[in-house]
Parts: sequence; structure tokens; C-alpha cells
Amino acid sequence: MRNITVLKGDGIGPEICSEVVRVLETLKLDLNFEMYEVGEACYEACGELIPQAVFDSIENNKIVLKAPITTPIGKGFKSLNVQLRNKYNLYQNIRPAKSLPNIDTPFKNIDIITFRENTEDLYIGEEVQIDENTVHAIKLITREASTNIAKAAFEYAVANGRKKVTCVHKANILKLSDGLFLSVFNEVAKEYPQIEANTMIVDNTCMQLVMKPEQFDIMVMPNLYGDIVSDLTSGLIGGLGLLPSANLGEDFAMFEAVHGSAPDIAGQNKANPLALLLAACLMLDYLEYRDEATKIRNAIDEVLKEGSVRTADIGGSASTTEFTDAIIAKL
Ligand code: NAD
Repeated sequence: MRNITVLKGDGIGPEICSEVVRVLETLKLDLNFEMYEVGEACYEACGELIPQAVFDSIENNKIVLKAPITTPIGKGFKSLNVQLRNKYNLYQNIRPAKSLPNIDTPFKNIDIITFRENTEDLYIGEEVQIDENTVHAIKLITREASTNIAKAAFEYAVANGRKKVTCVHKANILKLSDGLFLSVFNEVAKEYPQIEANTMIVDNTCMQLVMKPEQFDIMVMPNLYGDIVSDLTSGLIGGLGLLPSANLGEDFAMFEAVHGSAPDIAGQNKANPLALLLAACLMLDYLEYRDEATKIRNAIDEVLKEGSVRTADIGGSASTTEFTDAIIAKL
């Protein structure tokens, strides 16, 4: 029996999390889900954002399925998401944006994977108040982390029959930091002559993604651009409710939706569970339950093709529960 640590999160987190676990349980796999509350709700209940028992569970199980957690804006505690990624050195954040059937967007046949460096860049959150009117923020880029993420992108391309890796950067302005990321990418690319490699400045990349998305296959970039550009790729396929992610390190793995806790729709049973369910499929792939992951993806496709049951964000009126019921019925 393999234990999985499940973090229920904030906002829509608990709603989508219980539905995703319900789908996984219908497959009757040799998996046991250890469910934990973390974040705001947990802080109110027990005075801690992540209790020690959760860290113990993660350290035992080494695999986490995580719902979104709220992070206060402009004040308060550091992002728990970022803390978890750093504590367990989850240096790769892989975000596959793939068109799903019968979703109304102007973009067809999207299949773009973002490899986001997940441990440094401006995300280290080191800001210095110089004086009342001036703040400095530190953008950390190291050779080691840049090499790790570039290699991860090329290794993935080789293992999965992908053709091209694009390095996204702003080295024209950030000559030292993004310059290092770019030069490491170019060095690593030489080790993979069978994979086409190119580079593109981040602002142009955003325009090209909307105008000619078919030119992209795998993209690799520093942390902050990865955060922003991958939300853009979710827009190409129909929105944040559809984009999963895998946070991988050498010893630990954490699977989550790309979206946040969506406080505007929390508690209304109307969130789309697909991003977290597709993240659970990435987890099943990782655990070598590939056939089972394919079964869930096929069930999702069938429900979307039929079209009558879907959540509001993708043009329907079904609740989170009704949408999940329809997927389970197909399984
Ligand atoms: P968000 O992703 O929560 O929401 C953005 C918009 O997308 C909202 O209109 C929301 O209703 C919609 N949306 C998101 N997920 C959806 C879903 N599954 N179904 C239907 N609609 C969905 O972004 P935000 O509002 O900027 O952030 C809210 C909070 O989430 C913040 O505290 C932020 O720090 C946190 N956050 C957490 C994570 C994470 O846990 N990994 C990621 C991003 C943001």
C-alpha cells in the first residue's frame, strides 16, 4: 500500500480535493490517502499553517497531492506553496497545457509544456526596504538550478518524443542573471543535438503564444516568467480550471493545480475540479499507474465531448459534484 499525503488547502481547495480523491478511490488502487488541513483554516483551528504532523507525513510518504493554499498579499506570512517547494527541493515545475475536447477557445491543438525553475529567481522573496520610497528585490539565479531545470526539460523531451525546447528569458535587460540562465541553457542544449533548441525574449514569447502557439513544444524559464507564462498557456486551453502541474525533485514529488484558492467562488460547489484531477493523473503516471491515468483522462474527454455536464468556467452550469459524478460514471 502506498501512502499519499493530501493537503486540502484553502478556498475551493477542500471542495475540489475531496472530489478528486473520490475519483481516485473508484479505481481501487493500492493507494491510501492521508488527508490533512493546512493553510488559513488550519491556522485558525490549531495556530499553525502547516502542523508538524503534515511535514512528518510528507517525509514518510515523499509524495503529495496538494490543493491550492491562500497567500496574503503585501503582508503576512510567506507563501506556503513556495516554502514546500523549497523545503523539499522541488526544483522542476512542469505545467502541460493540452487542448481538451469541446472546450470553446480560439486556439486548437495546443500541446505546450512549461518547465518552470521552482526554487529561486524573485520567488526567494528577499526584499530590502532601502528607505520609505525605495525597495530592492533580489533575483537569484544560480548555475546549479539553471542547469537542473534545463537538463530536466531536455531529458523530458528525449523520454517523451518531444522535438523542441525553447528557453524564455529577458537577458537583453537582465544581462547577468537571465544572461546566466540563457548561457547555461545553450551549454546544456549542446548535449542534446537530437532536440531542436531555440531562445526567445519573454515579452515576445507572450505575443507569439497567442499569435502562433503551434511553434512551441517545451518551454523552459526562470521561476517568475514560468508563473506568468503558464497562466497564459492555461488561457489558450480554456482557463485556469484546466491546467495541472507536477513539482518534482530528486526525493519528493508534489502534484497540484496551477490555479489558486479562487476565493471569489469558494464554498459554492462550482469550481472546476479538472486541473487538480489532471494533476492527480500526473501523479498516477509518476507512480507507474499509467493505464489508470489514461482511464481518467479518457473519462474526462468523454464527458467533455458529450458536453451537457460541465462547470461554469467552461460554459456549463453543473456543480463540482455533478461534474465529478459524470466522470466517475464513465469510469
Ligand atoms: P486564482 O487562480 O485563485 O483565481 C483566478 C481566477 O480563476 C478567479 O476568477 C477564479 O474564480 C478562477 N479559477 C481558479 N481556479 C478555478 C477553478 N478550479 N474553477 C473555476 N474557476 C477557477 O488566483 P488569485 O485569485 O489570484 O489567487 C487567490 C489565492 O490563491 C491567492 O492567495 C494566491 O496567493 C493563491 N494561489 C495559490 C496557488 C497554489 O496554491 N499553488 C497558486 C496560485 C495562487
